[in-house]
Amino acid sequence: MTLVPHSQMTIKAKIVLLGILAIASLSYILGIRILTDGREHAAKLEFVTRLETAEQLSGLVHELQKERGISAGYLVIRSPANTSLLYAQRTTTDRAIERVEDSARSGLEYLHQLAEVRQKVSGNRMEPAASFGYYTQTITEILDQIDTLARDSKTTILTQDLGAYVHLLYAKEYLGQIRASINESLSLGTIDRERVAVVIRLLDLHQFNSKIAKREASPQIGGAIGAVLEQPQVRQTFAIIDTVLSGSGPVPPADQWFTIATYSIDQFLAVEIESMRLLRQRAADDIAASERNLLFDAGVTLAAALALIFFAASAVMSLLRALNVLVTHIEHTVSTQDFANRIQVHNQDEMGQLSHNFNDLMSIAEHLIKEKDYFASTDLLTGAYNRYRFGELFEIELQRVQRYGGGLALIMFDIDHFKYVNDRFGHATGDLVLKDVANLVRKVIRANDVLVRWGGEEFMILVPHTGEQAAELAEKLCVAVESHHFHNLPTITASFGVSSYTPGDTLESLYARTDEALYRAKNQGRNRVRAVFADSIGEQSNTN
Ligand code: GH3
Ligand code: MG
Ligand code: MG
Repeated sequence: MTLVPHSQMTIKAKIVLLGILAIASLSYILGIRILTDGREHAAKLEFVTRLETAEQLSGLVHELQKERGISAGYLVIRSPANTSLLYAQRTTTDRAIERVEDSARSGLEYLHQLAEVRQKVSGNRMEPAASFGYYTQTITEILDQIDTLARDSKTTILTQDLGAYVHLLYAKEYLGQIRASINESLSLGTIDRERVAVVIRLLDLHQFNSKIAKREASPQIGGAIGAVLEQPQVRQTFAIIDTVLSGSGPVPPADQWFTIATYSIDQFLAVEIESMRLLRQRAADDIAASERNLLFDAGVTLAAALALIFFAASAVMSLLRALNVLVTHIEHTVSTQDFANRIQVHNQDEMGQLSHNFNDLMSIAEHLIKEKDYFASTDLLTGAYNRYRFGELFEIELQRVQRYGGGLALIMFDIDHFKYVNDRFGHATGDLVLKDVANLVRKVIRANDVLVRWGGEEFMILVPHTGEQAAELAEKLCVAVESHHFHNLPTITASFGVSSYTPGDTLESLYARTDEALYRAKNQGRNRVRAVFADSIGEQSNTN
């Protein structure tokens, strides 16, 4: 016997618990994934905000650079043209300042002094160098703020590109400062050593920043920076700077230098604008892609979860259904002893196997029970029923005849002088004679008639649906035995007693009359039939 571990929980409860655990862990994983994706998405959105601020600030830088140059020019020559140029630029600068968000603007200390500086410039109460210095400090402060924006970015995507963009802004600013410085020197017609040192430092800073910008930027922007540096006018700009610094050749007039340098600065500006456009476009693409990913992830995980729930539920349902069928069949068999009970097998899975096994067990049990019934009810030598089975069958027939009528008769017969057969031919021959007599009788009686070995060489026949006519059957049997050849033995005969059911009869009363009839047959010379009926105690003898 297999030991089954003792458990308080039903399989159903365990499966339900398993399902809950599976769904909980799936939700946990899904939750973490969506949370991570969501955080990444939020960081990307925040990056776009940074880009916008950087763009606003670089727009302001551009306007301040222009105002710086115009203010310096105005302080040198206060012509009406310069005046209107200055005021127009101040309006444009103010618009650029308005575009910068309050939070970004409030951090710019120097910008707060702009009104004051402008007043001094308008009133000609400021040196051109001081005005230039103020604007340069403000621009540097803004560039540093853009740099901080790029460095503090929480997302790794495009930060390098944003960094390259910042270096591009610095490179352009240093070139602007070089332009102003050389412009002033050319206007004065002299360049002192101090200014040379300043321009060399600015040139270093410009070259360093444009190199980093070219290296860090995306290939497209890197290529654009390279193309700018290769342009003849740009090359000419740097050639003039070299000549001015070395003092080794003819230099152009200030206004010509200004035009050439401005062209180069504008080229950097164009790359800067293109770089920002690309950055924004790539950030937008990236966000759209991450939104699609988020949706896809959520969809896939949801589909997986639904599939899991569906398969788990259907597996559990079919398992429970199959278990229920099995339990119902077992309970039915136990309560009704119906061993013909079988489960219809639809699947070849484990439950199908279990159902097959159940059916096999039922077949074995059915066979064993039939075998037991056969041995319990049959006489093994003759194949006739035994007295135990006769009692059961008689009871059924008695109830039938009591309820519905239709007759019931008993024929009892005993082989004549059988002791002699045994003594003369041996016990084995006697057994053969007993078998032959049983076979012979079975051939003559109807299928419904029941042959019983009463004991020794005595037999009983239960004849349903028959009354006194049973005597005729007994006559037939008597003749059949007498005329049969038993293994070259001398003639064998038997004596028959017959009786039939009368209302009020019991097994005992009917048996008693039949036994009495047999006794009379023996007594009156054997090999004959005698009948004893309840109303008229009639007697019949065979024709011999
Ligand atoms: P009667 O005509 O008066 O019936 O005489 P009988 O010799 O047939 O009667 P008795 O009762 O004296 O003998 C019956 C014999 O049947 C005795 C017994 O040995 C024999 N017998 C009983 N059962 C079996 C059996 O199973 N096989 C064999 N071979 N003989 C059996
Ligand atoms: Mg006998
Ligand atoms: Mg006898």
